[in-house]
Amino acid sequence: MSSGRPTPDRVAEHSAAGAVRPSDSRRSTAVKVRRRDQATQGSGFGGTGGNPVTAHYLISRDWKVMAFAIAACLVLTALGSQSLPPIQTTLLAGAAIAICLASRWFVWFEREKAPHLLARLSAMILAVGLPMFLLGMAIATWAAAASGVTWPNAVGVLALASTISSVILTGRLPSIMVAAVALWLAPVMASSTSASAVMFVGGVVASIAAVIRQQRLDRAALAKFREEERRHARAEEILADYEQTGQGWFWETDRRGMITYVSQTIGEVLGRPARTLLGRPFAELFILDAEGSEGERTLNFHLSARSSFADLPVRAATAVAEQWWSINGRPLHDTFNNFLGFRGSGSDLTERRRSQENATRLAHYDSLTSLANRFQMSQTLEKILNAQRLEQRVCTVFLLDLDRFKQVNDTMGHPAGDSLLKQVAQRLERTIGDYGRVGRLGGDEFQIILPGRIARGDLAGLADRVIESLSQPYSIDGHRVVIGASIGIALSPEDGVTSEALIRNADLALYAAKDGGRGRHHFYASDLHSDAEERRQLEQDLRDAITSGGLELYYQPVVHTTTEKITGFEALLRWRHPVHGPLSPAKFIPIAEDAGLIAPIGEWALRTACRDLAQWPESVRVAVNVSPLQFSNPALPSIVTSAIAAAQIHPSRLELEITESVFLNDDEGTDAMFAALKRVGVRLALDDFGTGYSSLGYLKKAPFDKIKIDQSFVRGATVQGSRNGAIIASIVSLAEALGMETTAEGVETLDELDLVRMLGCSHIQGYIYEKPLSCAAASQRLEAGLIAIAQGPRSARSTRQTMLRKVVLEHGGEKYNATIRNISETGALIEGLWNVPSGTIFGIVIAETYIITATSRWCKDDRMGVEFAMPLPLDEAGRVSLLPPRRAVLGESGGVLLRKAG
Ligand code: C2E
Ligand code: MG
Ligand code: MG
Repeated sequence: MSSGRPTPDRVAEHSAAGAVRPSDSRRSTAVKVRRRDQATQGSGFGGTGGNPVTAHYLISRDWKVMAFAIAACLVLTALGSQSLPPIQTTLLAGAAIAICLASRWFVWFEREKAPHLLARLSAMILAVGLPMFLLGMAIATWAAAASGVTWPNAVGVLALASTISSVILTGRLPSIMVAAVALWLAPVMASSTSASAVMFVGGVVASIAAVIRQQRLDRAALAKFREEERRHARAEEILADYEQTGQGWFWETDRRGMITYVSQTIGEVLGRPARTLLGRPFAELFILDAEGSEGERTLNFHLSARSSFADLPVRAATAVAEQWWSINGRPLHDTFNNFLGFRGSGSDLTERRRSQENATRLAHYDSLTSLANRFQMSQTLEKILNAQRLEQRVCTVFLLDLDRFKQVNDTMGHPAGDSLLKQVAQRLERTIGDYGRVGRLGGDEFQIILPGRIARGDLAGLADRVIESLSQPYSIDGHRVVIGASIGIALSPEDGVTSEALIRNADLALYAAKDGGRGRHHFYASDLHSDAEERRQLEQDLRDAITSGGLELYYQPVVHTTTEKITGFEALLRWRHPVHGPLSPAKFIPIAEDAGLIAPIGEWALRTACRDLAQWPESVRVAVNVSPLQFSNPALPSIVTSAIAAAQIHPSRLELEITESVFLNDDEGTDAMFAALKRVGVRLALDDFGTGYSSLGYLKKAPFDKIKIDQSFVRGATVQGSRNGAIIASIVSLAEALGMETTAEGVETLDELDLVRMLGCSHIQGYIYEKPLSCAAASQRLEAGLIAIAQGPRSARSTRQTMLRKVVLEHGGEKYNATIRNISETGALIEGLWNVPSGTIFGIVIAETYIITATSRWCKDDRMGVEFAMPLPLDEAGRVSLLPPRRAVLGESGGVLLRKAG
């Protein structure tokens, strides 16, 4: 055959060879070519002419061979009959040979020029039918010439020629039929018998029927073939498209594991032409020892065991960007079960791995601060607490809560809060370093786990360093922000051996730290459980008190120093607890702040104070305490306005007492609040000055009308050597310079009154004039006039020192063990003796040689208060001295007796 294309026979050979597909990148082209040749296998007329894939050509390219066959037939006839052909025969045969030799032209015509079936048929009749007819005529003429060629001879030669033509025209039934009919037509005509004519016509009819039937079969086969081809083509295209997307790729190896096919895209990923990968070991496509890869062993195991594998994650052998694939493979065998190699596919795993890693990160780390999250921290703790060896289970947990974080979030917005949390996380990590692990549990709650045993002293030092570092100012969007932190500490195994117990106890310790004034650490102790329960109960009771009107306002007069007239009152909250009796606001205000109850309580206090003030003389003011949490509420000015309007009082009669902590966050919100309150027309007082933040900068811009000097400065100011007086004096001069009034808080004695008067305070508030009064009592007090009269002790009662000192009490020859809980110059609180009648006289054995005489004054349960017969001596620091006085040793009598031991 002359066609350069792969032949149908070769295609058949391939399909029999086994399941392996062509193995170079030109595979799909090759497959298409083969299919096209298979299409030419039909023996009918085929579909539309001109479609090279489906057309069937009637004239074979090999038809020229028929010229030699004709010549051979003539030679055979001549040899068989021992005669030469007559001239007519020679001419006819010559013409037939010439036409066959010219068949090339007809082949070209049919393939390139003849678009219609009729033209193709005509060309076939001319190229095939005519020479066969001429040959039939030539042999018939020779036989008729009676030159030795018998009819049997002639029939034999014609049968031979017919067979050869059929062979050359294999697969072209119409052409075979035309050749046969044309060949036999001449002899039939020459024999001129009716029988042969009938047989010939019968033969022609049978041939036509055979052709028609064959054509039908061909059409059906062709339709089936086309369908299959479409299916294949579609599959090929889909695969090619899939490969092109880069999501998936295909590979194939030979029996030695060398690549015989790999998708083009793999070459692109690996940065080298795919064809250079052919013949290379399959494993070369991957970095098999990469972290996270299932590794060399798994892949090599499957390749050498010739076993299938699926979803094997491998890292691509890329030099730059990390890329991951999931690969599948299965071994291939031929029909005799001989191993041929592997074939499989791969898909891109990079994104999936990335999102998996992301999900893992999200599950274990806090997305804002990148610290470990609650889940990860609890896993870390569990791991430590469940360690195999006992000594490895030792650890410490710090629970950390930021103070005033909520204020930052509320006043500066959540983005500012987020940025603050990030800075906090950085500082925490810096401070903790390699000591342990830092995590964020959510909100402003952090946890630190410190593995191993660390001395309590060191833990306390570390906690203080953490608090100190977190309390340094932060810069957020150009604003200076200050927050604090409190830490609760629990140790394992002392404070708990399970994570729940440890965390719960660290939490209790944290509560205690916050309760103790914030900005400090607290170690867990077992009595914290009852504190927490008490606090929870108080919170509940406070809620009830708010709804049932269990809160009351008391009013403490504020007196002008020089005129000694009452200028106003400070409104102070009182709560008469149904079980515990009157509770100090110092105890329940922090609870209200934590429980979010301060807003309703504060608003109620404002409205009530304004309402009560409305009944009092115009010259009297009322001061109301405002919590920093209320101050950060932008609705405060409108609440104040509404309270003033409802009571119909002049705004300047209302004074708001604000503490320094509102300045911790130096933001625009604070300034705006001051401005808004000033617009309302109320007065502003700076409460508890000197006890907190005490940066004088804010005094410049904050529009205060008054500074309240905290009672801690007044207390003890009269004690010799105290610097409090100097501090009060400087606060007064600062206030005067800024045009502000001053109130000295907590003046209790006449000495203190004289001192603060001398130091120039403009107002005085303290027990020396009046304790806080109920509203009715305050009204009554005002009815008696505004003049206030100082009443009280000249100097302060001796201060008490707390102590825990075991002593022996002697009474009526009996000895009793007891503990001194606190002591002052004049008396002591003693615990350990029950129901002691007042007036009982004891000897308190302080030391073998030092016994103090004391009389019981009151007793409750196992506690009693005793008064010493003589005041005890004080040391240089003003503290009660329990060392035996020298004069006692010298034998001077009085309340102190010298006794022999025993
Ligand atoms: P503060 O505003 O500094 O109030 C003065 C405190 O000193 C009051 O205590 C008052 O009874 C007490 N005090 C006055 N004179 C003397 C004295 O001569 N000697 C002694 N030892 N104490 C004196 P109180 O009523 O227990 O209030 C404590 C704190 O509770 C107040 O301190 C204030 O910060 C807070 N507070 C009271 N009422 C309210 C309120 O309605 N709202 C808010 N947010 N806080 C309040
Ligand atoms: Mg106050
Ligand atoms: Mg105060």
